[in-house]
Amino acid sequence: MTKKVVIVGGGIVGCMTAMELVKRGCEVTIVERNQIASQTSGESSWAGGGIIFPLLPWLYADAVNVLTNHSANTYRELSVRLQYETGIDAHFEQSGFLLLPTFDIAAATAWCNNNQLPAESIKASAFAVQSLSGEDALWLPTVCQIRPPYFMQAMRRWLEQNNITLLENTELVPLQQTAVLNTWKTLKGDTLTADQFVVTSGAWSFDLLKQTSAQLNIKPMRGQILLYKPQKNLKQIVYREGFYMIPRRDGYLLAGSTLEDVGFEAAVTREVRDEISAKAEAIMPELKGMPIIKHWSGLRPGTPENLPTISAHPSIENLYLNTGHFRYGLTMAPASAKLIVDLMQGDKPTLDASPYACP
Ligand SMILES: Cc1cc2nc3c(=O)[nH]c(=O)nc-3n(C[C@H](O)[C@H](O)[C@H](O)COP(=O)(O)OP(=O)(O)OC[C@H]3O[C@@H](n4cnc5c(N)ncnc54)[C@H](O)[C@@H]3O)c2cc1C
Repeated sequence: MTKKVVIVGGGIVGCMTAMELVKRGCEVTIVERNQIASQTSGESSWAGGGIIFPLLPWLYADAVNVLTNHSANTYRELSVRLQYETGIDAHFEQSGFLLLPTFDIAAATAWCNNNQLPAESIKASAFAVQSLSGEDALWLPTVCQIRPPYFMQAMRRWLEQNNITLLENTELVPLQQTAVLNTWKTLKGDTLTADQFVVTSGAWSFDLLKQTSAQLNIKPMRGQILLYKPQKNLKQIVYREGFYMIPRRDGYLLAGSTLEDVGFEAAVTREVRDEISAKAEAIMPELKGMPIIKHWSGLRPGTPENLPTISAHPSIENLYLNTGHFRYGLTMAPASAKLIVDLMQGDKPTLDASPYACP
């Protein structure tokens, strides 16, 4: 008999989990309180920068890098496939990553060597970033990016084409403790039934599960981004001390972002706008006086050490969690989806699941 699965949350993690479940023959419904592939109240996936790389991987535990490495290797093929099957181009680009000082050059080069990531010590001026002419930088040519709103649109169309039910504008209520989950109620009082449920609700996952025995350590961490359209754009992603600029293929340039612990407040602020534009202008003085075309924010599912929970619920038999991907959910989503579906299907996981167990 076909297994019925309900996924709670239609961000990248929920959509990717749905894709994986359908490939393995399940009947899938995604429940999303807003609209999939849009941004209403701080959803993270639409808002993200789209760098398919964990910025400074040498600072993270192996369990973080295992997920990001496995996923990053799949993105080129995934984007081509999505474009072929849906007609939507997610703007996958191998734009490379220029890391500016200060950073731990010894740790960075050792990590790149150990992980077979091509890296070259170089002067920043080699990339025509004139303001940085004398700076010693590290060039990582194989780092890629996607355009998250387009990627989400492509995912959404793929899900529709593959008969996944998208139950939008539908919010599930926080769960009470129970032994087995046969039904889950919506805010409007409807009842959903399934053989298995998966929580992929990003920053909102803790609220959904706090009355059960899952000790999730997830809280919203706001990030703000500015969008420019310079006359002459960068060609590569540039990163300096927590700040990055991402050139898009159609001439736009993103500058961001922040890590703000402000609860579920998704509004953007003037103060941060000034702070980001000052950092952007320090790298590209020609941005001074240029209009900021858009300014947005997203609420990341923040977790200690950037470590997501990809696991069965500790006490509710048919409930699974795939959440808490913090700064790298766009990067981690494919490998994370495979792992949770392996666990749900009782298949031997290709990755060691123990670091991601539910606390
Ligand atoms: C500014 C910024 C820049 C970023 N840049 C990058 C980057 O360059 N690379 C990278 O890898 N990652 C990046 N990230 C992180 C990445 O965006 C997140 O880790 C990822 O999007 C998390 O995906 P998610 O599906 O878990 O969460 P979300 O996209 O937030 O999706 C969760 C969904 O659950 C829904 N939901 C919540 N509660 C309920 C409920 N009760 N019922 C129904 N639906 C519900 C929400 O509406 C939401 O749509 C960035 C994030 C931000 C904010």
